[in-house]
Amino acid sequence: MQHEQVETAARAVAEAIESEARLQEESLMMIASENVASPAVREAQGSILTNRNALGYPDSRLYPGSENIDDVESLAIAYAEELWGAEHVNVQPHSGSLANLAVYLAALDPGDTILTLHPRDGGHITHGADLHVSGDLYETAHYELDPASGRLDYDAIARRADDVDPDMIVSGYSSYPRTIDWERFQEIAETVDAYHLADIAHVSGLIATGAFPSPVGVAEFCTGSTYKTIKTGRGGIIMCDEEYAEAVDEALFPGLQGGAAMPNIAGKAAGFAEALDDDFDEYVDRTIGDARALADALSDRGIDVVTDGTDTHIVLVDLRDSHGDLPGSEAETALEAAGIIANKASVPGDPRYPSDASGVRFGTTSLAARGFDETAMNAVADLIVRALDGAGDEQALEELSAEVKRLCA
Ligand SMILES: *Cc1c(COP(=O)(O)O)cnc(C)c1O
Repeated sequence: MQHEQVETAARAVAEAIESEARLQEESLMMIASENVASPAVREAQGSILTNRNALGYPDSRLYPGSENIDDVESLAIAYAEELWGAEHVNVQPHSGSLANLAVYLAALDPGDTILTLHPRDGGHITHGADLHVSGDLYETAHYELDPASGRLDYDAIARRADDVDPDMIVSGYSSYPRTIDWERFQEIAETVDAYHLADIAHVSGLIATGAFPSPVGVAEFCTGSTYKTIKTGRGGIIMCDEEYAEAVDEALFPGLQGGAAMPNIAGKAAGFAEALDDDFDEYVDRTIGDARALADALSDRGIDVVTDGTDTHIVLVDLRDSHGDLPGSEAETALEAAGIIANKASVPGDPRYPSDASGVRFGTTSLAARGFDETAMNAVADLIVRALDGAGDEQALEELSAEVKRLCA
């Protein structure tokens, strides 16, 4: 490319990022798997650490000149150990998905059986879905939520485990709003002589402050993303008992990944340090308080909230009662037109295909980070319901988006 073309191309990227900044500022960002990273996390993620190719682990790198990147990674590990009390931590996974795959590779043989929640009920694609390599490598069997209550039914899961005789049971989900009894899962896993992987991608931040029970030290393996409730920027993490440390580390590198993403690991170190501060406890309490207030405000306006509330940052709504003709996919489009960014989601026992779905999943992580408090959730619920009622009415939705902008300002 000519110099001028390069400049134009670079400007196009900068302009897209600026537009994105405006979108995030002027919209109600309510994707439950997103958050707002702090300036320190973003600075670390944008740092010169990206110039390094960090092959290996601290004190056993393949390349020389590694003392500083070793320090960064060791700090991230030390802070994570303090946050979650894990025996062994690996902060190198590029994502939560690769963290899960590393645990499977470390603990299972191809053809082994994993027992996981049905994707329609909130299981993740990496829990043995057809479209994911875990579905090719392992036999997958599913347990389901109780369709009436929308909750985990531990007796039914125990019976299912007895029938299936899995090698690993996976707990932890993408759209489950309630507390999880990790001890009960561990008991079920031990009864059938299976490993237990607790995937805490969504709730790791809530666990770090004690606002949600912890599976660390209960399940043999815990995995997570690092950008949902723990707002440390893109990436993943694995925690496990010491006896599995070597197998897990080797499965990730060199088994799955090459060099560590050092800027992201620095982001994790900065974000974990922030999470050790009392301010983060307040943030988590506000996040859950906001979600509870939102669930109440939506219920008051006639929306069916799955499980009638939440213990987390997630509010899952089932639109079949209030907006029977409106699939989640069209609700998502209407909300977006009104400046409310939240995704369609299947609900327990959902009769629709996942591409349509009957529900919407709302999260309060980003709003809480931007300072929205419980009283603000009344206004948010009001806007959500008016957007759902206005689906298909372009002018009404555009007027709403102006109101959303005013609220955000
Ligand atoms: C988000 C999520 C993951 C990992 O997602 P990545 O995008 O790969 O970080 C894994 N498991 C569950 C349950 C999740 O919700």
